[in-house]
Amino acid sequence: MTYDLLVAGGDVIDPGAGLKGAMDVGIAGGKIVAVAPHLPHAEARRTISAKGLLVAPGLVDIHAHVFVNAHDMGGHTDHFCRHSGVTTLCDAGSTGSSNFAGLRQVIDESVRTRIRAFVNLSAIGITGTSRGGELAHFPYADPEGCARTIGENPDLAIGVKLRYGPGLVWEYTTEPVKLARRTAAMAGVPLMIHITDSPIPLPDILAEMAPGDIVTHCYHGRANGIMGEEKQFVLKEVVEAQRHGIIFDCAHGRNHFNFRMIEKALDQGFLPDTISTDLTLTSATRGPVWDLATTMSKLLHFGLPLDEVIRRATAAPAKILGYEGTVGTLRPGANADLALIELRDGRFELTDSDGDTITARRRLITRTTIKDGRITYERPAD
Ligand SMILES: [Zn+2]
Repeated sequence: MTYDLLVAGGDVIDPGAGLKGAMDVGIAGGKIVAVAPHLPHAEARRTISAKGLLVAPGLVDIHAHVFVNAHDMGGHTDHFCRHSGVTTLCDAGSTGSSNFAGLRQVIDESVRTRIRAFVNLSAIGITGTSRGGELAHFPYADPEGCARTIGENPDLAIGVKLRYGPGLVWEYTTEPVKLARRTAAMAGVPLMIHITDSPIPLPDILAEMAPGDIVTHCYHGRANGIMGEEKQFVLKEVVEAQRHGIIFDCAHGRNHFNFRMIEKALDQGFLPDTISTDLTLTSATRGPVWDLATTMSKLLHFGLPLDEVIRRATAAPAKILGYEGTVGTLRPGANADLALIELRDGRFELTDSDGDTITARRRLITRTTIKDGRITYERPAD
């Protein structure tokens, strides 16, 4: 038998690899070994039909939280990931130098999704307390510890995380950004900055960032976003920053995804580089996020073409996470991670983080998730 599993007759869509059209995907030893029209079914131990479904690389969520039971942002991420076709995700700074070992233990013991993580500049990480953020108290900043943690965990840690917002940093100047950038330079990794409701203008933050660094929550509707205070046009400094290689990630979350901002930004040609959820236990179980396929459906509704939606939730984040060619792609040789997705027509009420609702005419619904060649989720017929 040439194939352990054959995914037959689906509409392959992998813009990152330039694959598109009716094709079979052959899997052996947990890897993709062939993508072509009409692979021999007799050569497969098992064949599943993907007729009428999109066959995409397993989805990659670059901003979520998995530190279960340690703060309100943790969740049984495996559960939600599998249900939406996510096979790889990145924990966006739930922990810092003092509790990263706890995150690793959770991942080793109870998470089957492939994981990477940003390490918080704050030693205590995101504790989820209402008594002030992780860097409201300056002594919690631990640049050396953060860089050391990244150095000691090369299989897991891929960047530095800073949340810049009211009550989250010790002073409302560019000093916290500068310290985070120096830390990232020390560790030789990119920096991810949360920017929602920033007390200082976004261009001031961008001026301290380097190509490859990531702005997360780029479509928030609070103060000092990509359109400044007028909220009409994407700031020229933002357009310039993206042109110079700063990555804009749209991490949805409970507070960071505003339909009016998205509509205007897309109309003006400002596209997110990556699509992510900022998934937490609360936003997965009570909305408005639910899962990555739902966030992707919202961008589809506002006119981002399907190919571009898929690319930004597969190849684009995989590259940033250091998985280029092995994850987020259907190229032969890659890990056999696949999402079989229905593009369903109908009327779907979808809500943003600020309570705005739209009626979408199409929605992406994951029907089957495959990770490392094994089926990890099958949606019941409905
Ligand atoms: Zn987050």
